[in-house]
Amino acid sequence: MLTYTYVSKGNFELIEKPKPVLLHERDAIVKVTLASICSSDLHIKHGSVPRAVPGITVGHEMVGIVEAVGSKVIHVKPGDRVTINVETFCGECFFCKKGYVNNCTDENGGWALGCRIDGGQAEYVRVPFADQGLNKIPDGVTDRQALLVGDVLATGYWAARISEITEEDTVLIVGAGPTGICTLLSVMLKNPAKIIICEKDETRIQFINEHYPEILTVSPEDCMEFVKANSEHGGADVVLEVAGAESTFKLAWECARPNAVVTVVALYDKAQTLPLPDMYGKNLTFKTGGVDGCDCEETLKLIAEGKINTEPLITHTYPLERIEEAYELFENKRDGVIKVAVEC
Ligand SMILES: [Zn+2]
Ligand SMILES: [Zn+2]
Repeated sequence: MLTYTYVSKGNFELIEKPKPVLLHERDAIVKVTLASICSSDLHIKHGSVPRAVPGITVGHEMVGIVEAVGSKVIHVKPGDRVTINVETFCGECFFCKKGYVNNCTDENGGWALGCRIDGGQAEYVRVPFADQGLNKIPDGVTDRQALLVGDVLATGYWAARISEITEEDTVLIVGAGPTGICTLLSVMLKNPAKIIICEKDETRIQFINEHYPEILTVSPEDCMEFVKANSEHGGADVVLEVAGAESTFKLAWECARPNAVVTVVALYDKAQTLPLPDMYGKNLTFKTGGVDGCDCEETLKLIAEGKINTEPLITHTYPLERIEEAYELFENKRDGVIKVAVEC
């Protein structure tokens, strides 16, 4: 079968590999119908994910149809339409039981698919712990509507969930890329008083203004002043940093009011500085790290109810045979691209 494979730093190639088989009684084999390209795939390509294993098939955000299941899988069966979770988790260890599935202690726990084990920019993918990693797509929800559930929407939903947002708050979201927009959609469900989204890319600002006209938008240069003018206590009550640049990390804590929550879900290319003397007395609470993707059933329900709609984010679609063009478009942010769907 055709797979898009991480060959070496800077180099992904479309190559043939054998179709995956069940290796464990809790595995499932899923025929991928749609996959998407994530900026984390680009991080692998550029060598900034040290644990990524050369030779693996990339792709960790996809939907498909269950083809086969191991003897211990009970929640899904062949023929089910499913979303695939970016994270692999056993459901049984200390962290899984607490909902911290990103920290699952299994050897494949956390982000394994398309990083340490073969992922889904391919015709088929093997999913370990299928009862945890797969969620049935409700009837009436299309593959395109469900495509982002397992990764960027999971991240946005989790970021909003842990950020202690109240209806009095001014919430600042830094970054209006795919994860930033999914974060926005999830924050909107919390009904804060004001939502401001900061983004440097004019096309993305236009996308926000067009699709979510009630959301305030601002460029990074004007952000600090704008947030001060649009909040009651000298800064945002909650900041979510989803952009992942050095300047945006600084911007995130600078725009926060004293005692604010700053949630950092961005994946940075290099270490960031936390200048404690400069922020002394600001008493910020930082929440950081990788998504605990354990709310997919809930987000699928919200999609079915029409409360979350990520479909407008899928701006382009390519067949797997032309995935290189899709990467080129996505990486260079050409043609107003937000998300690319790949038909496998
Ligand atoms: Zn991703
Ligand atoms: Zn676990």
